[in-house]
This record gives sequence, structure tokens and C-alpha cells, in this order.
Amino acid sequence: MQRKTRILIVEDEKPIREGLVDVLVYHGFDVDTAADGRDGLKSALSGRFDLILLDLMLPGVDGFEICNRVRASDPEQPIVMLTAKGTDEDIIRGLDLGADDYVCKPFSVAQLVARIKAVLRRSQIGQDDVYRLRLDRDLEIDLRNLEGRRGEEPLRFTRREADVLHYLHANAGRPVPREELLAKVWGYPRSLGLETRTVDIHIAKLRRKIEPDPANPRYLLTVRGAGYRLLSG
Ligand code: CA
Repeated sequence: MQRKTRILIVEDEKPIREGLVDVLVYHGFDVDTAADGRDGLKSALSGRFDLILLDLMLPGVDGFEICNRVRASDPEQPIVMLTAKGTDEDIIRGLDLGADDYVCKPFSVAQLVARIKAVLRRSQIGQDDVYRLRLDRDLEIDLRNLEGRRGEEPLRFTRREADVLHYLHANAGRPVPREELLAKVWGYPRSLGLETRTVDIHIAKLRRKIEPDPANPRYLLTVRGAGYRLLSG
């Protein structure tokens, strides 16, 4: 029999933690928990888990530091952050530290489970062999190693940012709708009708990295009413 998928829940608020355990056990996951940052960090670094569900505001060691430390030891460890509503700064910081995705509290069970499954699915997909983008003479991106350069300036990308660039590049002849990016890059079923703001956040982050003037993008264009398009070559 195939072993169950193991999820670590790091959450200090007991009712939320217990609610998460109920939901995830019901959906067939093998679940372990940590109620504070120190325990969470220790378990998260153990490498025993297929995915870590990580609250950000924790006593002891906060979720940002846990995310940072886990990424330093394992670039591939799937991490989903739990955040409060309306905390875009936290979300952006967590994504910058390498979290794969986030779920806002209070969360719907359907969305939580969909996001966890999507992140797990992605982590099991192998790398494509088309991984070097040369957008022009001054901008090169290595999607496999998550790095690049703009002129002399070195660039670092998160896995998700690289996946977005990869998909846009593979479809460079047309604008790609936000919903399509959510479905193809994030792996979310379109039927869920998830918000597309997460796509916009990633595009903004990418523009800050690759565009000489992020307010007037040259490579990563918005096509009004149609989506995003990557110009290259
Ligand atoms: Ca908390």
C-alpha cells in the first residue's frame, strides 16, 4: 500500500490547529502538529513531511524564519503559509522567502484542500528541459537553477516565479489569461473560481526583478482584458 502523504501543521492557536487536523485527516492525510515556533522549526527541518502548513505569527520562532531556514536546507520542501486576511506585506514576504502558496484565515475547507493538493502535485512534476530564457541581450534567466542576470546584476527567482515565466514563454505568441495561469501553473481547478490576485502579485514581483522600469514594462506586458504576455527575442 502506498504510504499516506504526511503534512506538518505549525499553528499556535489550538482551535485552528485542531480544526486543520480534522479536515486533513478526513481527506486522507497523515498529520503531525507543532504548537509553537521552536517545535515547528525542529519538525520542519526533519525532512519527514511532504508538505508544511505554516502559520506566520508564532511564539518563539516566527513562520518567516522557519520558512527561511527550511528553504536554506531544502529548496524543494513544499510549504503553504497560513496568513490573516489583508496582510499583503506578509504574503509577499513569505513568498519571497520561498513559500509555495498561502491560504488566508479564515479559510474555506475546499480552498485549503485544493491548494494543498495543487502544491503537492507540482512538487511531484519533473522539470522540463527547456529552462534557459534569453529575453534580450541583457536579460537571461535560468529557470532550472532559479537564477539569471539583467546586465551585470544577478537575479534570483522563486520556483513559482520561474514556473510563471516558463508558461508565459511557452505561450509567448499570445496573452495568457490570469485564470489560465492559475489553472496551469498553480494547478487549481477553474471550477473553484479562485481569486486571481495571487497571479498579479507574482507578476508585480517578477517585474521588479526583470524590468528596468517596472512601471513601464518592456518584457512582461499587461494586455488589457486578456491577461499577461511575455515578449522575448
Ligand atoms: Ca498564530
